Amino acid sequence: MTVSALQAGLMRGLADLFSLCVPTWCVLCGTPDSPVCVECRTRIRPDPMVRMLPVGPNQRLPVVVAGTYAEELRAVILAYKDGGRADTVGALVPLLAHSLAVVLSQTSQRGGEPGILCVPIPSTTRGERERGFRHVDVLLARALRSLARAHPAHPAHRESQPRLGRVLRNQAAARRSDQVGLGQGGRRRNLRNTLTAAPSVFGRHIIIVDDVVTSGATLQEANRALVLRGARVIAAVALANTAKHHRS
Ligand SMILES: [Zn+2]
Repeated sequence: MTVSALQAGLMRGLADLFSLCVPTWCVLCGTPDSPVCVECRTRIRPDPMVRMLPVGPNQRLPVVVAGTYAEELRAVILAYKDGGRADTVGALVPLLAHSLAVVLSQTSQRGGEPGILCVPIPSTTRGERERGFRHVDVLLARALRSLARAHPAHPAHRESQPRLGRVLRNQAAARRSDQVGLGQGGRRRNLRNTLTAAPSVFGRHIIIVDDVVTSGATLQEANRALVLRGARVIAAVALANTAKHHRS
C-alpha cells in the first residue's frame, strides 16, 4: 500500500467516524447528509404574513412572521431549539432573513444615521443552559450576515446597516421560564416587567426578533421595556406564528 492510499484510507475512516459523531440526516425525512434536505426545504419556504399586535392604547406593532407554526416548520424549529439539532439553523436562516427584509424594505435609513438595531428576545436562563447556546441570537446573527451578503452596503453607509443588538435582559428568568399551561391573560401577568433594556437604545430604531409568536405577550413586554428607554420600535419579526392567533 502506498503512502497516499494509506492517507486516503485514514481520511475516509476519520470521515466515517465524524459522521457517526455528528448527526447529518434530514430532521424531516431522514435523508442522510443534510440537516434539512433540499426537497424538505421547499416545504418550509417563507410565506410571510403580518399580524398587528396591540402594544398600547390605539397602538399596534406590525409583527412579520415567515410562516405558521405547524407541520414541517414547527418540526424544524423544535429540532433546532430543543431537539439537539443546532445544525438545522441554516434551513431557518432564510425564513428570518426574509421577514427582516420585508420590514427593512419599508424603512428608509439614510446614510450616516445609525443602523436599525435588531434585538433578540433573550432566552430564559434555564433554556440557555439546557441548549448551551442562545438560539435566537445565533439565528439572527446568521440572518443579518446573509442579508449583508445579498445587499452589500457602500463603505460610506456601513454604519447604517442593520445590526444585532443584545440590549434586552431578563429580570425574572425564573418567572418567565414557566409559561407553559398559562392562558393569554396569565402569560401577560407572568411576563410583566420581566425585561429591561440597556440605556443605549435611546432614540434608536428597533426591530424585535423572536422565534415563535404565541400570544404576543413576550413581544409586548419587550416593546414596553424598549419604549421605556426611549427607543422607537418599528416592527417585530419571527419565524412563525401559532395558528390559533393567526391574523388576530
Ligand atoms: Zn428531507
